[in-house]
Amino acid sequence: MTTIELPRGATLWLTGLPSAGKTTLANALAAAVAPSGRAVEILDGDAVRPVLSPELGYSRADRDANVARIGWVASRLARNGVLVIAAVVSPFAEARDKVGAVHAEAGAAFLEVHVATPLDVCAERDVKGLYARQRDGKLAGLTGVDDEYEPPLAPALRLDTAQSTVDQSVQALIELLGKESVL
Ligand code: ADP
Repeated sequence: MTTIELPRGATLWLTGLPSAGKTTLANALAAAVAPSGRAVEILDGDAVRPVLSPELGYSRADRDANVARIGWVASRLARNGVLVIAAVVSPFAEARDKVGAVHAEAGAAFLEVHVATPLDVCAERDVKGLYARQRDGKLAGLTGVDDEYEPPLAPALRLDTAQSTVDQSVQALIELLGKESVL
């Protein structure tokens, strides 16, 4: 029987405010890694939520449950050699830490990355119109505005996309993955 040696899988967990640049960086990183043939899976909060958490809303308990579900799936992929790039607001530190613990139990690396774009820049970008809707009183509980965001205290990397280009951030992520023997 031949044994197939799996590459070291990992979950790169991008957390940050809406419009911080998580999806943009996830896609750009996946595109940069694609030519290597490495198995990469993006778990983007906006795309995954309707599938894994259709019944959940935006209370703290529901946000945490959504994060836990995505984190569990990520850990299963990562322990099988996949490079998982999760792009999820995931506002609460305890829920992110639990995802880290699930990865530790699964024997998979978990790398927390804070996409730390300042709130005013995120509100100006407002890709999904959430900040405008909150200002107009049509949306309550927007993370970073009238709902809490707990920044990671010791992330593997912190990126401020107001200060760096997409390419520079992707380079920083690739360096991190290299340092962690994932790439
Ligand atoms: P999130 O997934 O965090 O909600 P998105 O990636 O969907 O955020 O949106 C970020 C927006 O900011 C995109 O329209 C992107 O083109 C823009 N943007 C401008 N400059 C940068 C940068 N340096 N890095 C990442 N995104 C940037």
